[in-house]
Amino acid sequence: MDTGLDGKVALVTGGASGIGLAAARALAAEGCRVMLADLDPRTAAAELERAHPGAVGEVVVDVSAPAQARRAVSAAVERFGRLDVLVTSAGVYETQGVDGLSDEEWDRTLAVNLSGTYHCAHAAIDAMAVNGWGRIVTLASSAAQTGGGAGGPAYVASKAAVMGLTRSLAKHAGPKGVTVNSVVPGLIETPMTDRLRPEHREIAATLTLVGRNGTPADVAAVIVMLASEGLGFVTGSHVNVNGGLVMD
Ligand code: NAP
Repeated sequence: MDTGLDGKVALVTGGASGIGLAAARALAAEGCRVMLADLDPRTAAAELERAHPGAVGEVVVDVSAPAQARRAVSAAVERFGRLDVLVTSAGVYETQGVDGLSDEEWDRTLAVNLSGTYHCAHAAIDAMAVNGWGRIVTLASSAAQTGGGAGGPAYVASKAAVMGLTRSLAKHAGPKGVTVNSVVPGLIETPMTDRLRPEHREIAATLTLVGRNGTPADVAAVIVMLASEGLGFVTGSHVNVNGGLVMD
């Protein structure tokens, strides 16, 4: 399939690790120039730059701060002249349940996962509207559908909110030529889920129809699909990437 992404410019928040890094690699392989926005993107950007000389940028941002989220977008435009694709993969995951969760963890999780997504996407839509074309892919989670396993209430709430936000942003962005969709991953083996107990990961694998947990590349493949030129009639959608864990 020709994705039509050759020469486009992509911004990936959380691009230094896990799903974001896999998405950045996959988008670069399709010919995108890629800006990695993360708390510390230097190592990942250097690795990607070796494979794609001149096609990789990096910007240090904390997406929970609105001005820094907007800075991620302006950095991509300053470096590469335009913005076509945004992947909002920056995220945090709290392990405490309802009774153990601190007020600070609640606020931090919502600030990164929900507000960070909103502020990056809002600025990106404005930048994409200049060219009348854009693709935004947000990161939800099957935890929003199941109520979570090890994931706590702030994580579940933030990801459910991202799914609603995706639909609202799709309505705002559609007339500007920009689609907004979310991927809804099940358990994906990344540094984030490395923190889970091994038995939790093993049980999660048995709950899928394919008998395994996901890889970052499994999610990146769907992100590339949603970012591609030919998917212009798909917007406000949620695409499960969960091995059949949840079907809706
Ligand atoms: P990951 O490997 O931990 O990657 C997340 C990246 O986001 C890390 O580089 C992290 O930096 C960065 N980050 C955290 N807070 C940030 C902030 N305030 N500003 C900028 N960057 C920040 O996790 P992942 O598993 O790839 O998760 C990526 C996304 O997918 C998240 O939104 C997650 O909720 C979602 N997701 C993951 C799974 C899964 O099973 N893995 C399932 C469903 C959804 P540090 O490492 O320095 O904190």
